[in-house]
This record gives sequence, structure tokens and C-alpha cells, in this order.
Amino acid sequence: MTEPAAVALFRERREQVLGRIAVAAARAGRDAESVTLVAVSKTVDAGRVQSAVDAGFTLLGENRVQEGVAKAPLVAGARWHLIGPLQSNKARRAIEVFETIETVDSVDLAARLDRLAGEIGRQLGVFLQVNVDRDPKKAGFAPEEIVPAVPGILGLPNLRVLGLMTVGRLVSDPEQARPTFRALRALSERLRASEPGLGAGLSMGMTEDFEVAIEEGATLVRIGRAIFGERPTA
Ligand SMILES: *Cc1c(COP(=O)(O)O)cnc(C)c1O
Repeated sequence: MTEPAAVALFRERREQVLGRIAVAAARAGRDAESVTLVAVSKTVDAGRVQSAVDAGFTLLGENRVQEGVAKAPLVAGARWHLIGPLQSNKARRAIEVFETIETVDSVDLAARLDRLAGEIGRQLGVFLQVNVDRDPKKAGFAPEEIVPAVPGILGLPNLRVLGLMTVGRLVSDPEQARPTFRALRALSERLRASEPGLGAGLSMGMTEDFEVAIEEGATLVRIGRAIFGERPTA
């Protein structure tokens, strides 16, 4: 596909996805502006990602540090979120590229990111990942672990704790994801009642279930396949 054709296709996809976001927000009595779209570009090569950025998808998400670090210098005009696991030995490289780390899942990782952000003199946005469904295959704080962890993390001077993030279960019907999203929102409200420094952001919802997530209060949706198409199966 020529580049102009690719950009035109991504413009069309963007209209579609933003339209679906607006409809879901309206159903929930919310302003569509309160939902931020992260275009998940994992496995997509830098050339196509550039076309997507040129079409207006300027906030991108990657789930692997190495892939993001390799791709980011090849793409102009984008900001990047890390949406996959971060090992502590990759934290330094990660914060050089990613504006926001959505997957902070331990106090140790938060402390390390705070220290590294301080060293390069910047504020780092983070979300705390919660394993709402207690899925042994998923990362994140267990709901009862996050309660005692939050005060210490909020005390770290170089982190801005923007909110909570979760990865829903794979479901065949988006309705099945609703309890997970509802639980994350309830947890956020409960935590913020005693910890007002915790941001109200809720990163939840992907291609299959983002509309339900928006109905349940998502402020950030992470959408890959509805924008870039199906990924090659690994
Ligand atoms: C891949 C991924 C997404 C996007 O999934 P799609 O089904 O392609 O929309 C969202 N969040 C995380 C954490 C991911 O790894």
C-alpha cells in the first residue's frame, strides 16, 4: 500500500473508532473527551505506525520494552505508553522512551522508576496495574495488596500516579468483562476516598470490550486490532 493510501485507511479507522467511543460515552452520559485513546502498535512495523500517527493516532502503546525502544526513534510525532510487563533491569531504557508506564505492579518497581526519573530530572506518569480477576497468568497487584501499597507509592516525588489499569479476561462476549471493569472503578473510588493523591484515571478496555469499559468509567482505552487489524499469531 502506498503511504497516502495507508494514511487514508487509518483516518477512516480513526473516524470509526472515535465514533464508537463517542456512542459508548453518550450511552453512559459521559463526554467523549473524557476518554483517551491509546493506539496499540505492538507487532506493527515503524512504517505503518508512522502512517497511523500521520492519520492522527499520536498516542501509542507498546507491550514490550525492547520493541518500543527500537520503534520509537523511527516514528515522528508520537508519545508512547508502556502497557506490558516491565522488568527492573529495563526500567532505565523504558523511561527514556515511554512517557507513561501503565504497568507498575510492585512497590519496588515504583521506587526504582522514581529514582531513575529523578536522575534524569523528569516527572513520570504511571498507572498501578491491578489483577482484578486474580488470574495467575496476569501481572498486577492483587486488590488487597494495592491498598497498603498506595500511600508509599504516592510519596515518591518523581512519579505522578495517574490511576489504575487492568487487563480484562479474554471473553467471548464483551458483557462478561463488565464485572472486572466495574470492580476496578469501585477499587479506585474506595482508594481515593482515603488517598486523594491517587489519580482518577482508569485504563481498561481493548478492541473486544472497550465500549463496555467506557460505560464502566474507562478514561483510557488501549485499542490495537480495531486500528491495525489482526496481529500475526506468534
Ligand atoms: C495488545 C494489548 C491491547 C490491545 O489489544 P487489542 O485486542 O488488539 O485491542 C491492550 N492492552 C494490552 C495490555 C495489550 O497487551
